[in-house]
Amino acid sequence: MTSSPIWHPFTQHAIFPQMRRIASGAGGWLTATDGARIFDAISSWWVVTHGHCHPRIVEAIRAQAGVLDQVIFAGYSHEPAERFAAALLARVPDNLTRVFFSDSGSTSVEVALKMALGHFHHRGESRHRVIVMQHGYHGDTVGTMSAGEGGAFTQPYEPLLYAVDRLPFPAPGAEQATLDRLEVLAAQPDAAALLIEPLALGAGGMRFYTPAILAEMAAICARHGVLLIADEVMTGWGRTGRFLACDHAEVRPDILCLSKGITGGHLPLAVTLCNEEIFRAHWSTDRRRTFFHSSSYTANPIACAAAEANLAIWADEPVQQRIDAITAIQAAAVGALAGARGLCNLRSLGTILAAEIGSTDAGYTADITPDLMNFFQSRDLLIRPIGQTVYLLPPYCSTAAELRRCHEALAEAGDAFG
Ligand SMILES: *Cc1c(COP(=O)(O)O)cnc(C)c1O
Repeated sequence: MTSSPIWHPFTQHAIFPQMRRIASGAGGWLTATDGARIFDAISSWWVVTHGHCHPRIVEAIRAQAGVLDQVIFAGYSHEPAERFAAALLARVPDNLTRVFFSDSGSTSVEVALKMALGHFHHRGESRHRVIVMQHGYHGDTVGTMSAGEGGAFTQPYEPLLYAVDRLPFPAPGAEQATLDRLEVLAAQPDAAALLIEPLALGAGGMRFYTPAILAEMAAICARHGVLLIADEVMTGWGRTGRFLACDHAEVRPDILCLSKGITGGHLPLAVTLCNEEIFRAHWSTDRRRTFFHSSSYTANPIACAAAEANLAIWADEPVQQRIDAITAIQAAAVGALAGARGLCNLRSLGTILAAEIGSTDAGYTADITPDLMNFFQSRDLLIRPIGQTVYLLPPYCSTAAELRRCHEALAEAGDAFG
């Protein structure tokens, strides 16, 4: 037992009694209280985009905190939210016209599901089935756990989860089975929405599929009047090489969820965007058609100011060039590491690189996971495997030398544990 009263997320305290204490962050680096410098190779759980404590975002937070800290967002509004919403809409597919704020990726998906079901309910259509993808992950609330892959994460809560329809993952060579299944499921009269992570499934093991399949799935949904919900909580903000993963396929989702990189990783915030038709289905003088959802901190002005500063960085710093450079380095590393002992399924998509260590698929609770975590910690790298899957998901300020160091550690880990 540890002396700290804090219960940490996704942490088995009996195996990891000691948390690494972090004092500060700058760019791609964290500094521990013992003075050690740690390279943040997974962007602190996928949220940091331009680097820790980006001066422009820090300044925007500082300035907004002295002007307006918080205000109820029902019946009230403020400039940081309005400016951010307008700037964001200019960057996403133009069928998306409305922006609903919340405070985490999970809540953005909950909002998306409620929008989709509300849309059909208010139109008098009995559509309430949700279609999802095998290995999907959409958050840890009860509603999003239901939509995500079951397993050790969800077992104790099974009695609370609602039923969904699942598509097989469109692994290379097996794509047709996914499309055929979607064709059947989407044709059910009560099918409401397809909820997916476009191109890259994150927590489900950094599994990638092609833009062509994404486009075909979108077309099937459109043909059957099933809403497409794109959960881009991880893939958004440039992760896969484009601003949105949907951009690779020119797919226009009906509903789009964004969080993680939305403030560059500085403050919690999320948005759920939707098309005009979904908004119109809730538009009525009948108050029962109100969209009954809110978080206490909906559109917190300080978080919105951080998000606005993030978009300003996207507008006038060479963010896309940095992403392109990292994309090229990761792709080259996949080639260079091919054949390295103990590493299999080497792959990259945009700024993400992933591989499995060893050859069996033991899942999230694989025996080697704690040893791998300790191995990377001992090398002052923040790399946190998902089961046997090791991946890099670095901030966009990362240099070639920093990434090389990560690739070398991956090769060493394969050698030691593969
Ligand atoms: C992280 C993640 C979520 C949940 O976001 P939280 O902010 O942790 O609630 C949802 N969907 C995807 C695809 C994610 O990667």
